[in-house]
This record gives sequence, structure tokens and C-alpha cells, in this order.
Amino acid sequence: MNSFDLSGKVALVTGTSGGLGQGMAIGLAEAGADIIAVSHSMPTETVQAIEQLGRKAVGIQADLSKEEELPSIFEQALQFRGRIDVLVNNAGIIRRTPAADHGASDWHDVIDLNLNTVFFLSQLAGRHMIERGSGKIISIASMLSYQGGINVPGYTASKHAVAGLTKALANEWAGKGIQVNAIAPGYMVTSNTQQIRDDENRYKDITARIPAGRWGTPEDLKGPVVFLASSASDYLNGHVLNVDGGWLAR
Ligand code: NAD
Repeated sequence: MNSFDLSGKVALVTGTSGGLGQGMAIGLAEAGADIIAVSHSMPTETVQAIEQLGRKAVGIQADLSKEEELPSIFEQALQFRGRIDVLVNNAGIIRRTPAADHGASDWHDVIDLNLNTVFFLSQLAGRHMIERGSGKIISIASMLSYQGGINVPGYTASKHAVAGLTKALANEWAGKGIQVNAIAPGYMVTSNTQQIRDDENRYKDITARIPAGRWGTPEDLKGPVVFLASSASDYLNGHVLNVDGGWLAR
């Protein structure tokens, strides 16, 4: 089991004030990593939970959708330990409006955070990891990296792109000791899906289609993210790991 051990590793996880990012940050800490938790609101609860595990953590409050601010956020993150071994690109938003009414700001807000930030943050981390000859980059994709979805054209476009970008970066950096992969969660209980869970019929329809018979939780991503962050996955490159209770197998 030593190859799954993250002791001494430093992971930067984005979007950690709740939801999947919080679950993954805690999971990585349980496996031994120290955590830089970046989020729109200060991820105090996440930092406290990690410290209670005996690991070190620092919270950074930042709006990651502002491309021009990413270099200084990354520099701030580097000050924690002087290096970053693992980047988890998790922060993401969704805007649910039919395509015919989808406003420009909805489109741009989603593409800025879900795609542009994933590229530019991966680029910053990639340069740093190339210098060091090792690193892990894990981006959060979606079932809508494969399917079209309903009323979420910008989100679907961004998540298809995340899957493509994962492969593009993996091709360039696999030979430099960096593994770039993605996790595609199925339907998970977080604020991102509150609106569809509030729609009783949609909630029932979706639940009935999940072979596992239930929605996923942030805890369900702990094992997959530890695997992709650890040396257990050193020969895995450009893979999108579906963690979906069987949704896509149906
Ligand atoms: P969530 O809304 O619970 O969490 C989103 C996190 O991103 C929060 O911590 C929030 O503070 C942070 N964030 C939002 N805008 C930000 C910004 N501008 N700058 C910095 N941080 C910002 O949602 P979640 O479900 O945990 O989503 C996490 C990721 O998982 C997203 O990329 C989402 O697209 C993806 N995902 C979620 C599901 C699901 O069913 N919940 C399924 C597939 C993929």
C-alpha cells in the first residue's frame, strides 16, 4: 500500500470551501498530504478538518476566474512549502439556462472558471513540475464531458474541453514525469446539483438511472483522487476516470 502514501507531498486543491473539493482535500490529507486550499470564500472548515488529522493546511481566499490574478495566487501557494506536488483543478460553476436564452455572461463566467482557469493554472503548475521532473495534475471533468446535458451549453462545452485538455497536457508532459488525468464524477450531492435535486421528477428519474441506486458524495472521490495523486498511478496518463455509480455503463 506504500505507493498510495502521500506523506510529505503538497497538494493544491481549488474550490475547497465545500462539496467535492472539500472531500478531496480531506481525502488527500488522510493519505498524508499537506494541503493548500484555494476557494472563493475562505475554506476555514476544510483547513480545520485537515489540521485535526495532524496535517498542515493553508487556506487562500481568491477569485480564480480572473486569469490575470492566477500567477500571484500560484506564487502565494508556493510560499507554503516552496513546492507543489499535486494540483487538483476542482473549482467550477454551472449556469442552467436553455441555449436559446443563455446569456453572454453565463457563457463567459462558466468558460472562464471551468476551462480557462484549468488551463492557466495547469500551465503554472506544469512549468514548476517540469523543473522538478515530477508532479500530478488532476482536473474535475463530468458526465457532461461525454453527454450533452439539458440547459447547460456552456458547462457542457467546458467539461468536454477539460477532457480534451487533460489528454493534450498528458501527451506533452508524460515524458517529463508529470501525470495529467481527470476524474469525471457522476451525479453528486453538492450545491452544484441542488437545483436538479429540488425538481422531484428529475431527481427521481436520475436516481432510477444510476445502477448504484444512489447519488455520489464527496467521500466517494477520496479513493480516486488519492490514487491519481500517488505513485500508484505513475503509468496513467491522459485518463478520465469515471466515478459515476455506473451511470455511463447503463
Ligand atoms: P460546489 O458548488 O459545492 O463547489 C464549488 C467550489 O468551487 C466551492 O468551493 C466554491 O467556493 C468554488 N468556487 C466557485 N467559484 C469560484 C471562483 N471564482 N474562484 C474560486 N473558487 C470558486 O460544487 P461541486 O459539485 O463540489 O463542484 C466541484 C467540481 O465538480 C466542479 O468543477 C463541478 O463542475 C464538478 N462536478 C460536480 C458534479 C456534481 O454532481 N456535483 C458532477 C460532475 C462534476
